[in-house]
Amino acid sequence: MNIHEYQAKALLKSFGAPVAEGVPIFSADEAAEAASKLPGPLYVVKSQIHAGGRGKGKFKELPADAAGGVRLARSIDEVVQNAGDMLGNTLVTKQTGEHGKQVNRLYIEDGADIDRELYLSILVDRTVGRPAFVVSTEGGMDIEAVAEETPEKILTLPIDPDAGVTDADAAKLCDALALSGDARSDGMTLFPILYKAFMDKDMSLLEVNPLIVMTNGRLRVLDAKVSFDGNALFRHDDIVALRDTTEEDEKEIEASKFDLAYVALDGNIGCMVNGAGLAMATMDIIKLYGAEPANFLDVGGGASKEKVTAAFKIITADPAVEGILVNIFGGIMRCDTIAEGVVAAVKEVGLQVPLVVRLEGTNVEKGKKIINESGLNVIAADDLDDAAQKIVKAVKGA
Ligand code: GDP
Ligand code: MG
Repeated sequence: MNIHEYQAKALLKSFGAPVAEGVPIFSADEAAEAASKLPGPLYVVKSQIHAGGRGKGKFKELPADAAGGVRLARSIDEVVQNAGDMLGNTLVTKQTGEHGKQVNRLYIEDGADIDRELYLSILVDRTVGRPAFVVSTEGGMDIEAVAEETPEKILTLPIDPDAGVTDADAAKLCDALALSGDARSDGMTLFPILYKAFMDKDMSLLEVNPLIVMTNGRLRVLDAKVSFDGNALFRHDDIVALRDTTEEDEKEIEASKFDLAYVALDGNIGCMVNGAGLAMATMDIIKLYGAEPANFLDVGGGASKEKVTAAFKIITADPAVEGILVNIFGGIMRCDTIAEGVVAAVKEVGLQVPLVVRLEGTNVEKGKKIINESGLNVIAADDLDDAAQKIVKAVKGA
């Protein structure tokens, strides 16, 4: 789960990190009052969308040479003007895809005078099985480009979870970021604070790009992107309350209501599978036969008929889906439950596209019988290979 920059900053502030004063607004009418609460004379008007690269982004509705989604303003009037320009418009950045994202919230912030822009993130480094800091002196830009062109300017520092961020760790980070004086003592305090926030809130990513050294020599978190581990959200009601579903894929929201592991993808073959491994193998084999999956969907082990029905409805509601492949290897999941769910869903929403069903395992005969007797136009398949070939052929032939 992702949150907005202003929410991430409020959270980091509650742990003691240095962030600027700021006020989130939802309509242009609020801009003047929000700015009047800040000291000035420099303000920043920041589009709040769940995507980075806003500064260099472009608004679809504005001329190509108009400023991007992060703008400096030197008076309250300029704040108001910029807010009116941005709110309600669609911002396209490197991370939004060409459709862009509508800006429904702005963050009005006290502007900083910047000396240097640095990069810092904390993530789970799977190669060492530990949380790790990634830092670079090359902040404010695309870290992927830095990794590509000048990898020697990036330090990855894994943290021992038993010890936490030691003084030696913090000193290494300060050295890598070339921090001295006040900025160095700020860093020695800040790095353990960010690590604590990351661990306490079960984050999967905490990215500060840029972390800045201000002209007064102090550090400040200028941008913040935070993602949380969805599997740990049950113990963070405060985080769940920050969710902005207008930023999420509608199909994924619907799926989460039914506790389905669903990820929307760009292809045209809808997949309903049990087990994440089998779901991934199914996507691979669809690609092997020259087509693209429209989604990843693991209905899970003990799914009810209702859950299967919901899953099938989510797949068929996707206009991009031109064929559906149901691939079930029944272990804990029973084939007859899947069959009942599929038949119930088709009765409710109809079936406009070819459907290939491959059932194997527990209660397979019962499952096949339910499907055969339903009168549904189902293409039966014997194994994974056969199923993938059949659905790709059915879709390409159509
Ligand atoms: P992003 O483009 O979505 O990553 O948004 P950021 O919050 O990182 O802002 C983009 C850029 O705007 C930063 O890298 C800074 O160069 C600039 N910027 C943001 N806030 C301020 C500020 O308070 N003062 C100044 N001078 N520049 C800022
Ligand atoms: Mg940024």
